Order: sequence, then structure tokens, then C-alpha cells
Amino acid sequence: MSTVKLHNKYFAPYLSKEKIDNITQTLVNQIAKDCGNEIPIFIGILNGSFMFAADFIRKYPRACEISFVKLASYVGTSSTGTVSQLVGINEDLTGRTVIILEDIIDTGSTLQKIYEIFKDKNVGTLKIATLFFKPTVFKKELPIDYIGLSIPDEFIVGYGLDYNNLGRNIDSIYKITTPKMTNIVLFGPPGAGKGTQADLLKDNYNLVHISTGDVFRYNIKNETELGLLAKSYINAGNLVPDEVTINMLQAEVEKNADVKGFIFDGFPRTSSQAEALDAFLATKGETINGMIALEVSEDLLVDRLLERGKTSGRPDDQDESKIRNRFNEYNTKTAILKDYYAKQNKYFGVDGVGSIEDITDRLSTIIDTL
Ligand code: AMP
Repeated sequence: MSTVKLHNKYFAPYLSKEKIDNITQTLVNQIAKDCGNEIPIFIGILNGSFMFAADFIRKYPRACEISFVKLASYVGTSSTGTVSQLVGINEDLTGRTVIILEDIIDTGSTLQKIYEIFKDKNVGTLKIATLFFKPTVFKKELPIDYIGLSIPDEFIVGYGLDYNNLGRNIDSIYKITTPKMTNIVLFGPPGAGKGTQADLLKDNYNLVHISTGDVFRYNIKNETELGLLAKSYINAGNLVPDEVTINMLQAEVEKNADVKGFIFDGFPRTSSQAEALDAFLATKGETINGMIALEVSEDLLVDRLLERGKTSGRPDDQDESKIRNRFNEYNTKTAILKDYYAKQNKYFGVDGVGSIEDITDRLSTIIDTL
């Protein structure tokens, strides 16, 4: 699960599907017990409660009816306090047990409107059930009979709840977050110039540069356990297994608390690394702002790498077959990440041929917009 962007705001995972399911089941059990053999009519308050209402009645163990009213009070992330009724009730509720299903009760304005609407409907018993409740902002003295979960006053979306109409289709609950970092994935095939550019950009933008290749080489040189493990893969031009690489990357990030952000160079290189990075950053309320790719043709790169091999001392730069193998790894496992980030509107391609300064300028133009 990763951070999602809705309009101009970011939201981080908060409550899982399983957690919501458990809360709903507990509410169903309580209400079914209290209703006994009485056939209740559940009334969902639209739009927010449609998912909760659907899951709730699917779990309800006995006969029941369902209907909806549509009320609206939110604009953006704050309640306006004025609630309007957009779709009303047309059932005869005389003598019935009516149970309102609300997704969330915060200030209580909607709840007050609900009590007003049902006051003159000759209802037998009126009860209120809400999936979420924000006790610290509730301003009314109105009864709430069943509460799924009390939560702090934080703006949440998902599972029917929206931010300016987006986010209702997310199947769990996310809460608003304000990322403090700028995190960039510098992308491109081996030899595209990621290391050179990252060195320049990290100073210009005050970011921490993490090159997984450099970390591996450092460990190989110092003959650490990690180095010994990675050495055979690297020297053959193969990728180091995901689990090893992901753990190492996380440790590198953890070493740098309170930084303005990271330039990830050489990571992620597989889909599972990209997913792990998203999930890891989301636990910190952070996200990848963009993947910037240096686009250079393969033939040009082979020559560049062989040239670099003369001075770099890297065994994987000195042999054309190993270089070709690195391209093969790139094309089969890494290149697909372009789509992964493009789907999140986070992919930016840059022409990687030209002078170092020109390329830095091209990259900077993009970073400035992130
Ligand atoms: P680089 O310096 O980025 O070209 O990386 C050199 C080598 O280190 C690669 O060919 C891989 O063997 C290994 N390596 C670096 N980053 C990763 C990664 N994210 N996943 C797996 N292997 C990696």
C-alpha cells in the first residue's frame, strides 16, 4: 500500500480492509442482537456510506430492508455546517425500527439534520450507527447508539469517503499527510549517467544520494557479509536478489533521519522493489515525487561503459558480455518501472545525450516542478 495523491493532496494508508471488516462485523452483531426478530429498515446516508451500508447488510444475519437518503455538507476537507437534503425518504416508516447507517460523524451537523428529517415520520424506534466517529470535534448533544471506531480529528478518505469527489473507490481508509521530503528516482540503463548527475543534483537540492551499486561495491571492498553475498551476482552483471537489496536500501534510508529527501540511483530495479519502496515511504507519510529517466541508446552506452571500465576497476564494466547481460536485466526487469510510475503520473523522460551541464539543466527543470 502506498501513498495516494488526490487532487493536490497526499493520503497515507490508515485502516486496512480487514480492520474495517472487523469493525463492521462487531456493529452487525450488536445491532442484530438488539433487533432480535424485528425487521429493521437500515437507511444509509449518501454518498459516503454506500460501501459501508453494502458491506453491513451483506453481513446482517436476518431479514432487513435498506433505503438511502442523500445529504451533503462537505466542501474540500472541511464541513460547511450547512447540510442540505438532496434525496429524501419515500417509505412509510410508521412504527418501524429505523437504523441510520453513517460512514462518519464529526461535527454532528449531518446528524442533527437526520434527527430533523425523521422527527415527523412516526418512526417506532430511531437509532444511529456510525462506522467512524470523531469525538474531539463533535459539538452536539445528540445520541449516537452504535460507534464502530472513534478516531482523531484527521481527514480521511476511501471506502466511500471522498476528498472533493475522489477517493471513494479506494477499498480501505487513508488519512491526509503532508510529505516533507522530495524523493526522486533517477532512472536509466547502466552507463546513462545517473551517478554523475546525482552527485551534482544532491548538492543543488540538498538531497541525500543513495546509489545501491555504490553501497554494494563498498561492502564488497570491505568484505562484509552483504558484500560477499552480492559479489557473485554483481560481477556477472546479474541483479542481487530483491530481499537483500530492499533490506539494504531501507537501512540506508533509516541512517538519514530529518533529511530533505533522497535521490535513489539504481533503485528500484524490479516491480517488487518499487512496491516495497512505496510501502516503506508510506509508513513515513512520504512518497516518490517523480521518476526521472535519462534516455540514451544502448550502443552508445556499451562504448561508454567499456571506456569507463578502463579506469573504474569495475569487473562488470570491462567485459562486453557482462555489459550486455546488464542491459538484458535492465530490459527484462527494470524498464517496466516506467509504466509503474507513469500510471501514477510520476514519469519524466529526459534526453540523456549532451554535455553534463545541459543534462543537469534538463533534470533540474523537472525537479523544480515536483
Ligand atoms: P550500478 O552501479 O547501479 O550499475 O549497479 C551495479 C550492480 O549492483 C548491478 O548490476 C547489480 O548487480 C547490483 N545492484 C545495484 N542496484 C541493485 C538493485 N536495485 N537490485 C538488484 N541489484 C542491484
